[in-house]
Amino acid sequence: MKRPYNFSAGPSMLPEPVLERIRAELTDYRGLGCSVMELNHRSDAFDAILHALEARIRRLLKVPESHAVLFCPGGGRMQFSMVPMNLLGAGVSATYVVTGTWSKGAANEAMRFARVHVAYHGNGTKLPEEEMLDLPEDASYVYYCDNETVHGIEFPEPPRVPSRVPLVSDMSSNFMSRPVDVSRFGLIWAGTQKNFGIAGLSVVIVRKDLLGLASPEVPTMLNYDVYARTGNLPNTPPVFQIYVAGLMAEWIEAEGGLDVMNARSIERSSMVYEALDACPAMYLTKVDPKTRSRMNVTFRLRDESLTDVFVREAEEAGLINLAGHRTVGGIRASLYNAMPIEGAAELASFIRTFALRHAV
Ligand SMILES: *Cc1c(COP(=O)(O)O)cnc(C)c1O
Repeated sequence: MKRPYNFSAGPSMLPEPVLERIRAELTDYRGLGCSVMELNHRSDAFDAILHALEARIRRLLKVPESHAVLFCPGGGRMQFSMVPMNLLGAGVSATYVVTGTWSKGAANEAMRFARVHVAYHGNGTKLPEEEMLDLPEDASYVYYCDNETVHGIEFPEPPRVPSRVPLVSDMSSNFMSRPVDVSRFGLIWAGTQKNFGIAGLSVVIVRKDLLGLASPEVPTMLNYDVYARTGNLPNTPPVFQIYVAGLMAEWIEAEGGLDVMNARSIERSSMVYEALDACPAMYLTKVDPKTRSRMNVTFRLRDESLTDVFVREAEEAGLINLAGHRTVGGIRASLYNAMPIEGAAELASFIRTFALRHAV
């Protein structure tokens, strides 16, 4: 049976070879007589999984020695709290670039701990030009979201910030989809359920000199330094999430690495944007074309009553989970690493034929 193409924003598609590996190893991991879920997390076998994952992340992203790679449970939003708890240090203020739902959520959470300076407040359709950003030199860090998943806007380049202020990026929805110059960042974090595995785990890449700044009141399990000092084993980690991220890293390497992931993401998203732009009487795209996301393509039907029809007919054609985020409606097609080029091609062709069939 052919599986449908799944455009879910997250949890999202996994590559079929990864699913097949999970199936093959599920009841008996490499002859050990038990699954990964039943392995002691201090065993040699799990130690090998953990170290291989870190080594692959370091190779794929060319992570410099100056940065630690941490695996934190709690999913993406846990980082909204962990970032200020750990990086404020003796400072009291942090700068947030608010470009949509996820950076806004992060700024709101930081207000529990810090004086938050909002350097830009967008509405989800545009990103700030450099001269629009108001960045104080004395902030503990500058925080932004590299790809706003709900709206479908993506920074082509990270924002430029004063050199002594660490730059922090939420890359949850475009992590491992293109090369990144890690040395420019104080901290990068990403929940794994978009491009790199399943929900419940975040990868945190942090400059080592920023570890150990947390005040003594910060709970042990929310302190990055505890993860660094224990080799990512402060307690029983989310073993299955770590295993699946390891399989994703192995798959990305086998496919050719981040340049290949990037080229594919451009090819997939360009096909879909071209189809939308070819049918302006049917579809409305609000995102500034310069900042259109390679990961999440968002659009609306000019006749809103056709939105449900679009989602239903797409589903019948084997293109599933295309409804937009519940807060904004419309349509959203998420095109992460696991989405085959043919999936995007079928969606582009569906967009064109739908417009012809429903033309007024
Ligand atoms: C999905 C997502 C999150 C939240 O992740 P959870 O694991 O659901 O907490 C945060 N930021 C971005 C950019 C996301 O895409």
